[in-house]
Amino acid sequence: MKVTAKTIDSDLATVFVAEMGAGRYVEFVESRQPPRPRLEKWVVILSVLFGCPVGCPMCDAGGHYRGRLTAEQIWFQLETLRNLFFPVAFLPVRLFKIQFARMGEPALNPAVLEVLEELPRRLNARNITPCVSTVAPRGSEPFFSELLAVKERHFQNGRFQLQFSVHDTDPLHRDYWIPAPKWDLTEIASYGTRFVRPGDRKITLNFALAEERQLDPGIIGRHFDPEIFLIKITPVNPTIRAKQNRLTSLTTDAGSILDLPACRSLQADGYEILPSIGELEENRIGSNCGQYVRAFQREDPSPPIPAYSYPVIRWTDEAEKYFS
Ligand code: SF4
Repeated sequence: MKVTAKTIDSDLATVFVAEMGAGRYVEFVESRQPPRPRLEKWVVILSVLFGCPVGCPMCDAGGHYRGRLTAEQIWFQLETLRNLFFPVAFLPVRLFKIQFARMGEPALNPAVLEVLEELPRRLNARNITPCVSTVAPRGSEPFFSELLAVKERHFQNGRFQLQFSVHDTDPLHRDYWIPAPKWDLTEIASYGTRFVRPGDRKITLNFALAEERQLDPGIIGRHFDPEIFLIKITPVNPTIRAKQNRLTSLTTDAGSILDLPACRSLQADGYEILPSIGELEENRIGSNCGQYVRAFQREDPSPPIPAYSYPVIRWTDEAEKYFS
């Protein structure tokens, strides 16, 4: 396992690429929210699969699936970032978010549960908040049962974030956005009701909106309790796959999201709406999962390819600077 490249230094986000053996690469990311220093809030985003078998039409991690990462390969990403930015025994970050959301659907890899179980002991940090973002693949019921148990053991009282990527309330259209067998909305609602206990965070239902039609307030209202679920609206990122599929964001402005008739209706019914637009530079650097890895899986990754949205440097050029 070794880091082979990273994007150039940035105040917002840095993407790292690591080779895990047998020519398999993953990406992982660290980011913060200026002006807040990393000590106050630090976010790391980890990969859990080599590619992804789900193949969502707006995600460059889809296709090219080459298996699951082991728990140690996931830990390698986390410990590389920790050693780089906080090489001390006790991690003093006030809010440390660890997102299993870069490359790969987490519910397809039981090693994610092993890592979650070990986090409090092995990381020696305060206020760890793991975030699992999933499309709820059918057949992953044992994963979700154990996820609830791990949350109860280690991450109660608002220290766990669970997100279901729903993308469309219409079942047929949802099959386009998530082209794999998955829980329907009733199953997601039922699990969420069991998952959230007093003091826990609400579960996020994420929609990448290309059309307002994707979000039907009537269907949301019939399935999801606003005391347990909140609605997050994200842009459709400008990935290679999104461009190939001619998908563009309905809006990239937080104000206009809240002003959409569907969002206004949901707010009137008591739902919290979270427009998640992020910093433009952060989007350029960090959002397009799989683009950097795609370049490194080519035989000669050195010439820049159009997929790159941000300059990349070879890790070997910089390693001495950081680790000497
Ligand atoms: S969005 Fe998630 S589930 Fe869909 S292809 Fe990408 S990594 Fe896989």
